[in-house]
Amino acid sequence: MTELAKEAFTSRNYHLAVELYERCLKQQGSSYEVLLGYGDSLVKCGRVRESIEIYSRCLAAMSVPAERLKHLATALLEDMVGVGTSFRRRFETSFACPLCEGTLCQPVTAGCGHTYCRNCVDPSKNCRVCGLKIAMVSETNVLVQRLVERWWPREAEASRARHEGDILLRKGHLGQALERYNLAVHFAK
Ligand SMILES: [Zn+2]
Ligand SMILES: [Zn+2]
Repeated sequence: MTELAKEAFTSRNYHLAVELYERCLKQQGSSYEVLLGYGDSLVKCGRVRESIEIYSRCLAAMSVPAERLKHLATALLEDMVGVGTSFRRRFETSFACPLCEGTLCQPVTAGCGHTYCRNCVDPSKNCRVCGLKIAMVSETNVLVQRLVERWWPREAEASRARHEGDILLRKGHLGQALERYNLAVHFAK
């Protein structure tokens, strides 16, 4: 049954995968593989909040490698970005980070003039937008930060929570990272 569920997931039949994983849970109880697979499938169906609960359950019961949760972080981001592909969204992209594609969080401007979240920018790399070396970055651009907070307060909070989650995840604090991601989802709604 687990194999079937996995197959459904890899062939992108996510709703089917959710059903199959639910059956697995009933029949075989909650193993690491089943829970995580179930969580991934839920994310793909847009049931982000439920998936976080599943991942949390998983974390509480057993140790989950950080690699495994990076998957969730990416899925979460794609989910949030994917939600608002509307007119408004296009307007917002001028206040979106070219790297994480979320609302700018503590915006800093690279030497080339493009703006990133402080947490996302890497001075050793080239700019994602124009390809020039980033080299140096400005202090936090307070004006942009204020504009973002004023016009998109919830998105700004969501972005802040998500970046904090990323930092915690990098440090290996998985439980705390999940809490931040949970908050990010809450604000993104
Ligand atoms: Zn960013
Ligand atoms: Zn640039």
